[in-house]
Amino acid sequence: MNKEDIEKAVREYISAKSYNRMELKAAMFDMDGVLFDSMKNHAYCWHETMKHFGLDLPEWEAYMHEGRTGAGTINIVSKRQRGYEATEAEIKEIYQYKSDLFNTRPKAVRMPGALETLLKVKESGVVPMVVTGSGQKTLLDRLNRNFPDIFRAELMVTAFDVKYGKPNPEPYLMGMDKYSKFTTSTYAPNNFIVVENAPLGVQAGVAAGVFTIAVNTGPLPDSALLDQGANLLFHSMQDLCDNWQTVYEVMQ
Ligand code: CA
Repeated sequence: MNKEDIEKAVREYISAKSYNRMELKAAMFDMDGVLFDSMKNHAYCWHETMKHFGLDLPEWEAYMHEGRTGAGTINIVSKRQRGYEATEAEIKEIYQYKSDLFNTRPKAVRMPGALETLLKVKESGVVPMVVTGSGQKTLLDRLNRNFPDIFRAELMVTAFDVKYGKPNPEPYLMGMDKYSKFTTSTYAPNNFIVVENAPLGVQAGVAAGVFTIAVNTGPLPDSALLDQGANLLFHSMQDLCDNWQTVYEVMQ
């Protein structure tokens, strides 16, 4: 990615949104497939869990639903296969089974380049945040263990906070709101960027009006992310890391 391409993407964003410029203050990172190399595990666990409950969700399809709440994914499969939505009790049971299975799997490793990116982001004075559809109870501990001194619980949006989940813009709108409350400052979407690896996540970031950077760490073609309106695309977190200084400078 050269500087001209980054400048062009930023120019197009600010012109489409009628801003004078970007005034970047915080970067909202999705977690699975961005910070952790965990999507293979999730896809496997979704498939096995659904099978256990007599439902069918192929592993490849799990990538298409990445970012949805557990309830959202369960209901898509339930409606498709049984013609009705799952009850709250069923959703709880299925999601619990999936979470328990996930916890028996080898722990997902940090995405290569993720820590290096976060350190650069923080060093440049931009606040790193996490906005995830995940609801693992150990999430904050894991984040702190793998990314020491980077994130704050007050600036984190998880499955426990949101009602709709991605692709609804709600998680990212909530992220901006949390930032505003925490810093007691006003904000606009041009104070933020979103970093996402999944089509539904990109859709959520774009719908929230935020400049959305896609990082294609999975099996989908780039077009799956660009078609959802991603403003920029990098091929790995290391790729984003290598370009961070330029991205940051262009967004001042
Ligand atoms: Ca993701």
